[in-house]
Amino acid sequence: MITNHIVVLASSNKGKIAELQRLLEGVAQVKSASELSIVMPEETGLTFAENAMLKAEAGHEQTGLTVIGDDSGLVVDALDGAPGIYSARYAGEDATDADNNAKLLTALANIPAAERTAHFHSAIAIVTANGEQMIFEGRCDGAIAYEPRGDHGFGYDPLFVLPDGKRMAELDSDTKNTVSHRGSAMRQAIPALRAWLESMP
Ligand code: IMP
Repeated sequence: MITNHIVVLASSNKGKIAELQRLLEGVAQVKSASELSIVMPEETGLTFAENAMLKAEAGHEQTGLTVIGDDSGLVVDALDGAPGIYSARYAGEDATDADNNAKLLTALANIPAAERTAHFHSAIAIVTANGEQMIFEGRCDGAIAYEPRGDHGFGYDPLFVLPDGKRMAELDSDTKNTVSHRGSAMRQAIPALRAWLESMP
């Protein structure tokens, strides 16, 4: 019965944890970093994958359990890939989602609709209880709107326009997981995680 296994989510972002918890239903018992008082590391990596692995390794070192780390962000073409790995702190160390969205709109103020293309990127790192490391990545393409819309999700979701014209923040969590960068990375990660969990006594 693999759902007896505990998997830790090395993240303090509530929106991200909620989405990952939903994706892991029936796979394992999920605990968050705050439930286990895990101290999150500084994000000193230069890529999403490096930062995701730093989080998973820190969680594993502190608990000895199987840990999932996600590092994700928004990559805007007209801004040469910014805010990228700095998405959470785009408007400063203690920036709120609203601060980051406001800064993004200002940075794109003179950019026409056709040049507002962007994508979300997610790297999911897993460190298993016996120290095996795995990385999975996913992306979701879209564009940046001129004003926020929608009440769901978190972060840049109210500004992110999907190819069908809907905002990411107009999708409920299950629908978002079917199209999102995180859903895509987790659809690759879950079979590998299941296989590892099933191989355990
Ligand atoms: P991290 O917790 O260091 O990986 O930072 C992730 C940041 O990227 C979040 O604080 C958001 O600003 C942004 N981000 C990542 N994934 C999403 C998403 O699914 N929707 C909206 N913003 C996201």
